[in-house]
Amino acid sequence: MITGIKGMNDILPGEVETWQYLEEQARRIFAAYGFAEIRVPVVEKTDLFCRSIGESTDIVEKEMYSFTDKGGTSITLRPEGTASVMRSFIEHKLYAQDPVARLYYLGPMFRYERPQKGRYRQFHQIGAEAIGIDDPRVDAQLMAMLTHYLDEVGIRDVELQVNSLGCPECRPAYRQALIFFLQPQLEALCEDCRRRWCTNPLRVLDCKVPGCREATAQAPSILDHLDTPCADHFSRVRAALEDLAVPFAVNPRMVRGLDYYTKTTFEVVTGNLGAQNAVAAGGRYDRLIQDLGGPPLPGIGFAMGLERLVLLKGEERIAPPRPALFLAALGEAAGRQAFRLMCSLQRRGLRAETDFEGKSLKAQMRRAGRLQARFVLILGEEELARQIGQLRDMDAGTQEEIALGELAERLLERLGQRETLDAVR
Ligand code: ATP
Ligand code: MG
Repeated sequence: MITGIKGMNDILPGEVETWQYLEEQARRIFAAYGFAEIRVPVVEKTDLFCRSIGESTDIVEKEMYSFTDKGGTSITLRPEGTASVMRSFIEHKLYAQDPVARLYYLGPMFRYERPQKGRYRQFHQIGAEAIGIDDPRVDAQLMAMLTHYLDEVGIRDVELQVNSLGCPECRPAYRQALIFFLQPQLEALCEDCRRRWCTNPLRVLDCKVPGCREATAQAPSILDHLDTPCADHFSRVRAALEDLAVPFAVNPRMVRGLDYYTKTTFEVVTGNLGAQNAVAAGGRYDRLIQDLGGPPLPGIGFAMGLERLVLLKGEERIAPPRPALFLAALGEAAGRQAFRLMCSLQRRGLRAETDFEGKSLKAQMRRAGRLQARFVLILGEEELARQIGQLRDMDAGTQEEIALGELAERLLERLGQRETLDAVR
């Protein structure tokens, strides 16, 4: 038996309905905020991620799925979406028509991590990017959209945390202050953090190892090191969030695992997912487009992890659609008629099922029950001769005779006149 690859999951019927629901709601809600979908390839040249995410980040150092293709080019399965979206935005000069763009994407991402609950090697993100506006109100609006979405899909018990990481002008002084603070603590830090101390010291604040958390409890705060423009931006973001009545907490220890962030960063966290507590995360990237060879346009975005949203939905999963009708036929002629009726109902958008194996009525009724069919049409030789059928309402347990010619109309009437699959949900 050939099995799937470790950390890469199949999404099976029964759970896929929850995925579809989460995706549909994102499309609907993001569209209201003016976001258009963009679809980019799942592989890119490795350089794109090294240059945008940063050489000394966990992602680039150890989590990328990189390969040399048959032409000798190093390519990488995308570990996140922003870099690809910006590459595409620049390559197609989308800014030429309008420097303001709002884009969203959804799809699989790949990171070579240690698989555990809520952490996989292929996982899925829905992300949104707002390009071309540096007004702090856009930061707040994006967070408002994210909170609105989570609320709408029924994700509760989450907290929005915000921070500012400053900019390339003020962050180096903070970085230096942090290096000084950490130096006497080096012994207490984990091996990863001892390495991060000189390569990416801010990331030490994000380490989940208890010893590292303790050692950094009194660390200096980035918020005390912001220069005037960054501090002003951050206070206006907070004011705009308050204005929009979006609840949030300031977390000065929140740093992000990607180097391109400037100023505002944010995360939505939950206490219900164990160690994998981040549901969504994002931030501003005012230099990224320029660094990738585009015009000097600012941007801000976020990505949500779909697996974690599905885990949080837990028992509240979306039920698969029920068949509207199961046609239980007895005898060959009735079987032919049932098949024709089933196909005509399907053409009208109603989910219908029948038996192909000439099973007994009892066996067919059992199957209808297992499929949770809303109605069953019993069609024997006698019924066929009179062009009628016995329509049984499986929920109410009642049965009545109906004319076969009126089957679709009668069904739609009982299902509430809606000629869609939703009618039987
Ligand atoms: P974490 O701290 O959990 O590793 P991260 O900071 O690496 O998260 P981002 O790169 O900001 O995560 O990605 C945004 C979201 O994507 C996360 O909040 C999370 O919900 C999801 N995510 C990230 N990595 C994984 C993974 N390996 N498996 C499942 N979901 C993930
Ligand atoms: Mg990570």
